[in-house]
Amino acid sequence: MYKARIKILVQALGIDEFRRQVEAEWSHLKEGPTTVPDEEFARIAAHFAPPAWATLPAVDEGHAARVAGDLAFANWVRRCVHPHRTPGYAAVTLSLKAPGAAPGDISDTQMLVVADLAERFSFGELRVTHEQNIVLADVRQSDLHELWQTARRHRLATANIGLLTDIICCPGGDLCALANARSVPIADAVNEKFDDLDYLYDIGDISLNISGCMNSCGHHHVANIGILGVDKHDEEWYQITVGGQQGNAAAIGKVIGPSFHAHEVPLVIEALVTVYIEQRLPSERFIDTLQRIGIEPFKVRAYAGRDRRRGASQESREIVNV
Ligand code: SF4
Repeated sequence: MYKARIKILVQALGIDEFRRQVEAEWSHLKEGPTTVPDEEFARIAAHFAPPAWATLPAVDEGHAARVAGDLAFANWVRRCVHPHRTPGYAAVTLSLKAPGAAPGDISDTQMLVVADLAERFSFGELRVTHEQNIVLADVRQSDLHELWQTARRHRLATANIGLLTDIICCPGGDLCALANARSVPIADAVNEKFDDLDYLYDIGDISLNISGCMNSCGHHHVANIGILGVDKHDEEWYQITVGGQQGNAAAIGKVIGPSFHAHEVPLVIEALVTVYIEQRLPSERFIDTLQRIGIEPFKVRAYAGRDRRRGASQESREIVNV
């Protein structure tokens, strides 16, 4: 009996034996007493009826005018508001990735604000996403500006959803006993390096995730740029992967080479982004460019100047130790 995660079990048994055991168990369970009949399915489904949406015009004129007249609001709408299947409604992502805050952190005050926003604007429902943000799924377009103003006052409206600073980050060594390395300070350092929202908009859609160990709670392996904490001789190091993605075209990122020291990581991210900016074709996202030109140019740039960076770091450590 294994208590470990499924990936450990698959590795121990081998994929063929694992598959054989799954098939054997399935033939034993199939159409047995735990099968859910249609009536039971319908009974449960009735508890998940859609909310009582109003009948609204597809486009709210007032909302369209506010978007046209307020750039900050328009930027928020562009990054944090999503189309809805019901005319006149939208889904909203409240960003928990404000500059200077640990990714996904929310204070007690903010929680009360979010609960109030859900009550007022989204049928009392909110959803926590695996990207460590919060979604209000059923908001009237006509309410978006008022919602945004409240969210902004409470640092819940950073217009960075899907951008480089919308980082998924596990608690890492600051809070998790399993960690090989800290995660949150790396996220902080990346945030500091990329603190210009206009540049983030220019870089566009990209995912950067950080895990403090191979358990991968930060989903680093399915990020366009993944950062994994590793332990080398009792020191924190970070392995970088590129090319991962989630969604229908899900892919595991590839390791670009030997791991980096913490102070190098923001510079490496900058190097990877620079290659993308230089090489991209119009409308190409980071992942598209990487898939077109391959990993090599990114790898070369990430390690270029490494000796110089190491030298500078050694020098600064010596100065500190004098
Ligand atoms: S990835 Fe590792 S360090 Fe991060 S939360 Fe999970 S177990 Fe802890």
